[in-house]
Amino acid sequence: MQFDKSHLEKDFLSYAPGYWRDRDVSRWDDWTWQLQNRITSLAPLEEKINLTEEERAGVLLSGTKLAMAITPHFFNLIDRDDPGCPVRRQVIPRIEETLHQDYEMSDPCGEDAHMPVPGLVHRYPDRVLFLVTDRCASYCRYCTRSRVVSGAGEQSLETDFEDAYRYLEEHTEVRDVLLSGGDPLLFSDAKLEGILKRLRSIEHIQFLRIGSRIPTFLPQRITPELCGMLQKYHPLFISIHANHPRELTIEVKEGLERLANHGIPLGNQSVLMRGVNDSVEVMRALFHKLLQCRVRPYYLYQMDLIHGSSHLRTGVQKGIEIMEGLRGHTSGYAIPQYVIDAPGGGGKVPVGPEYILSRNDDRVVIRNYEGKIYEYPEPGRPATPRPAEEAATLQ
Ligand code: SF4
Repeated sequence: MQFDKSHLEKDFLSYAPGYWRDRDVSRWDDWTWQLQNRITSLAPLEEKINLTEEERAGVLLSGTKLAMAITPHFFNLIDRDDPGCPVRRQVIPRIEETLHQDYEMSDPCGEDAHMPVPGLVHRYPDRVLFLVTDRCASYCRYCTRSRVVSGAGEQSLETDFEDAYRYLEEHTEVRDVLLSGGDPLLFSDAKLEGILKRLRSIEHIQFLRIGSRIPTFLPQRITPELCGMLQKYHPLFISIHANHPRELTIEVKEGLERLANHGIPLGNQSVLMRGVNDSVEVMRALFHKLLQCRVRPYYLYQMDLIHGSSHLRTGVQKGIEIMEGLRGHTSGYAIPQYVIDAPGGGGKVPVGPEYILSRNDDRVVIRNYEGKIYEYPEPGRPATPRPAEEAATLQ
């Protein structure tokens, strides 16, 4: 029996053809057309939106840091006149990107120091990060890998696939491989399948993951053919990347549902950003919409200390406030883990509001989301001696 679920679609909009309404958009749904028609330079950008001086200068300088590229699909989410638009802040360069604080880094997660072979990061005991490409459908101005991503930065990604496969074959402790980059879903189906098949030929690798922003930047790429190919390599999970509820359009929802219908568990990673999603209301709306798309909010990241990102960074207190505003106030499934990737390569450290008020061998004193206080006795706690009078009446 089919249920009418159209009322659940009302929060999901389509913005197409938007800024392209005067153009031939007969191939709008073709992901290669979307890539060919990306906004990558100042002139087409200024034709469509009114730039501030800070943005204009940022675009002119972006060629030496992290390139600018925005798919028509994602560009349509941008407000023409509002420089504070939360989508615009994520993808339009600003001159502040050239300002470096002394604590900012080009490799804030210390990946290069944990690369046993080029392109393979082995930082945790049983899992690796495999950087398979340096290209993305659009470029996020806060990208933690901007040193290599887009090809415009100071380093280039020189992944040696054969060396990486050899390393993985030798390291039997690795059971989990995360494909990332750049964006692995930018590869053709055949090229991506070649990598997945090779990894699946290594017996001790149990679990494959793909980290991708394609579902939000380029949902047209989530074709039935891609999904059919991916499902051959289960267990395979995909972590998507959405930061603001407006990113979850009807096209994105359909793409995510297609992945889920092919048995691919979906999680979302968001980055906490000033002026983008630094409020409980925006985060709650984002996480609720993700659940409607069958995506579990997975991580909320405190922004890494990447060079030129201070205009987008919030304090950690803001993240803690957001977590406090979610826990208990909405479904547990709608609450991600808030983490700081410890600067320099310490890995993810969970942070959040404190719910334990005190703790000793006998008991833990906790508070709930309403501030009510409870006591939890620890196992083996000595029985509380009863007052003599009470004990006598019980005999
Ligand atoms: S999609 Fe990911 S890798 Fe690409 S620019 Fe954005 S954050 Fe960086």
